[in-house]
Amino acid sequence: MRYNKIRKMDIADGPGVRVSIFMQGCTFNCKNCFNPGTHDFCGGQEFTQDTINRVLELCENDNISGLSILGGEPMHPTNLEGTTKLAKAFKEKFPNKNIWAWTGFKFDEYLKDKDVSKYLDVIVDGQYVDELHNPKLKWCGSENQRVIDVQKSLEENKVVLFK
Ligand code: SF4
Repeated sequence: MRYNKIRKMDIADGPGVRVSIFMQGCTFNCKNCFNPGTHDFCGGQEFTQDTINRVLELCENDNISGLSILGGEPMHPTNLEGTTKLAKAFKEKFPNKNIWAWTGFKFDEYLKDKDVSKYLDVIVDGQYVDELHNPKLKWCGSENQRVIDVQKSLEENKVVLFK
């Protein structure tokens, strides 16, 4: 598994000031994808335990409210194990900070039964659809995408949107 980049202070991807990591590799090929440089599974850099340690270290800063996981596609089967490992390590170390993740997969069709969901606070799900692009959306690129409260959705066994 590989990743594209880490941002030490990100104010665009989720609430507050965050650390973000962009995983490498995506097969969805959405029209006018915002991040085409992340599609090739051979690009970027190797994702290792050192990468996880580096992210955790950056998150120790009190000004950092959480971790954002984007891509590429962090939930693609190639990347899911590493994404889960990172999310688990983060939540164990920072139970009071939150994790947001962006994925082209649907939460209720693919992700709700995956281990990674145990550790995520919010998932923005669904592929980017250029025809439904709306620049006024806060955390999404297109109107079909949903901002989901993961833990409430698991508790209630239905998709609950984040408020
Ligand atoms: S899922 Fe995300 S990274 Fe993949 S093609 Fe679509 S917009 Fe781009």
